[in-house]
Amino acid sequence: MKIALYPGTFDPITNGHIDILERATHLFDKVIVTVAVNSSKTPMFSTKERVDLIQTIIQQKRYKNVSVEHFEGLLVSFAKKKNATAIIRGLRAISDFEYEFQMALINRKQAGEIATVFLMPHEKYTYLNSSIVRELALLNGNIKDFVHPVVLRALKKKISH
Ligand code: ADP
Repeated sequence: MKIALYPGTFDPITNGHIDILERATHLFDKVIVTVAVNSSKTPMFSTKERVDLIQTIIQQKRYKNVSVEHFEGLLVSFAKKKNATAIIRGLRAISDFEYEFQMALINRKQAGEIATVFLMPHEKYTYLNSSIVRELALLNGNIKDFVHPVVLRALKKKISH
């Protein structure tokens, strides 16, 4: 049984994240979307809200081999606890590379048996990230092509408060 973690902040989950997740489901027996509790910035959505949005999407898309959890602490320790042997990350552009390269090598140094696997999204998502989605939502921009309808609803609700 090949298990992979797909870690991230997911504040909120975008169609770019879903694209990577879907690709990972074809490569692994089980994918655990792992929502990071610790973030340098204060997230717009609470950990529970981020987990719940992902859970709803997993159900709506009927993914059979995907679950969602949150975690705090060292990622490779969580991976070992879950018997995961891979960490999935998305690579959009060269700009992602330096940070991802550093993280992958640091994680390998911590736990050599866990591989980081990079997947590339469809080109139409290469410019997309959660912070652009949050910003557009706050400015009332059009984000319907960037996020799942449940996320669109959640963003609208969040900014109307
Ligand atoms: P983090 O704070 O860990 O970077 P994110 O939620 O921003 O968390 O991203 C989680 C993972 O998803 C990262 O590997 C990131 O590169 C990837 N990702 C984010 N947006 C996209 C996208 N539009 N297309 C492909 N991968 C993406």
